[in-house]
Amino acid sequence: MQALMMNTQLMISSILNHAEYNFPDVEMVSVTVDNPRHRQNNKTFAKRCRQLANVLDSLGAEFGDRIGTLAWNDHRHMELYYAVSGSGMVCHTINPKLFPEQVTYIINHAEDKILFVDVLVMPLLEALKEHLSKVETIVVLTTKENMPETSLANVECYEELLAAQSDNYDWPQFDENTASGMCYTSGTTGNPKGVVYSHRSTVLHALGGALPDVTRASNLETSLPVVPMFHVNAWGAPYAALMVGMKLVLPGPKMADGETLCDLMNTEGVTFSSGVPTIWLALLDYLEANKKSVPSLSRVSVGGAACPRIIVERFREQHDCIVVQGWGMTETSPLGTVFSLKAGMEDFTTEQITDLQCLQGRGVFGIEMKIVDEEDETLPWDGVAFGALKVRGPWVASGYYGLSDVPGDEDCPVDEKGWFQTGDVAAITPEGFLKITDRTKDVIKSGGEWISSIDIENAAVNHPDIAEAAVIGRYHPKWTERPLLIVVLQPEKSISRDDVMEFLQDKLHKMARPDDVVFVDELPHTATGKISKIGLRKTFEDYQFPAA
Ligand code: AMP
Repeated sequence: MQALMMNTQLMISSILNHAEYNFPDVEMVSVTVDNPRHRQNNKTFAKRCRQLANVLDSLGAEFGDRIGTLAWNDHRHMELYYAVSGSGMVCHTINPKLFPEQVTYIINHAEDKILFVDVLVMPLLEALKEHLSKVETIVVLTTKENMPETSLANVECYEELLAAQSDNYDWPQFDENTASGMCYTSGTTGNPKGVVYSHRSTVLHALGGALPDVTRASNLETSLPVVPMFHVNAWGAPYAALMVGMKLVLPGPKMADGETLCDLMNTEGVTFSSGVPTIWLALLDYLEANKKSVPSLSRVSVGGAACPRIIVERFREQHDCIVVQGWGMTETSPLGTVFSLKAGMEDFTTEQITDLQCLQGRGVFGIEMKIVDEEDETLPWDGVAFGALKVRGPWVASGYYGLSDVPGDEDCPVDEKGWFQTGDVAAITPEGFLKITDRTKDVIKSGGEWISSIDIENAAVNHPDIAEAAVIGRYHPKWTERPLLIVVLQPEKSISRDDVMEFLQDKLHKMARPDDVVFVDELPHTATGKISKIGLRKTFEDYQFPAA
């Protein structure tokens, strides 16, 4: 028997319509290159999105065309999110901080027809112009007065194009499984791979993300997404915020700038903010050094990399702010697991709660997860057993753009049984909290035993003189592989290898202690701010342990 319910398609444009009618006065505040504090409300935002849809038509963009963006977090990028997807095209966000060859590869692979770019990205495009054969038009996200000089052909000004268009536009209705967005991930081996989101996955992800135990998004909150809009749709904030009428504060290119973040938080009354650990360390250091506080901020969500305990403690002790750690991937839109306490944990000590915050959070409805051993046998949720983490759900990728989406194929990240293989290694506690212990390609297998590089790194960064730490596995004649700890010291600090080893003595099991410590001035980082293990392995290719 068929249900008698309307088969309304889940459309990104429906979020925009909802925000326009239900939260017309809610503000969106942005920092842009041409305006340090741009303000508009949802009513104006929706009107500009319709004008932008007409601009896309006028530039010859058609249903299904990929429209690339190389931009920071601001209102114009938000307009692109809604107008491009809403009119049936694919909003392809590109990370401008990637290596130029990767940017070229990604634009060409996706066959972007139009690029919308921030003024700051123009020098990069000038350098790449010979290689971007498919791009027909470049639109600079600025006003006429701020248009840069350029040798590029077919360059237009965003505000001029918008001003010339009417705000009459009816958002089309189509199949909810149509591609709405695209984001390439370089977190896999080989060339970056394109993850393709749909209207359905995006709307469901926003609904899941807004739940009380997830981001607790609401009309009463003000959110500052510091996670870039070019990285997994800023973790879904642009959609969840408009769905619930949450005020958005967008920091533009000033992402890692403690002073700008502090100022935005305090003047706009930010209650919730999201970003990777590096961002929070920068903010905490700025606040401490300048004796400043962020009283309105009650929660920060941390993801993309394991959150060091020190971040949880400093936010709590210095700013009365709760750290909410989450785990996810570009391929999972990214929401997978998020920290929140369960009933029965009300009496937990601060120490116990901190322990839980240092885990990766627990499952959100919509994501099923399991851990498996080398034979693909499911492991128990006992907090001890750890194995490859697999997930599935309506906002998890079923394949990569241009590669096979047949489960089990070499190019397909989904196994024969329909589970997405995350490449992460994890344990799950009986209460359902995920504990990422490593990435598959990063795990150190020493004498047949797995060693978590993350545990060693976390232990090392708790030393007050260590600024950053990374662990890689290196060849060892007896154990096959042993951990090598590579550290960057805090400015003007000097400690020895033995000091570090002594510090780790009671923090790690004997087998998990690194065999050596080397000091470097800086660690290589990927474009999204993570330590590049690939880069480190290359640098230390010929390294040999002293005793070996
Ligand atoms: P990306 O697709 O670039 O966002 O990277 C996703 C990967 O980042 C995951 O597969 C994990 O390896 C890592 N990751 C994300 N969140 C966390 C977290 N909270 N703790 C540890 N690793 C994380």
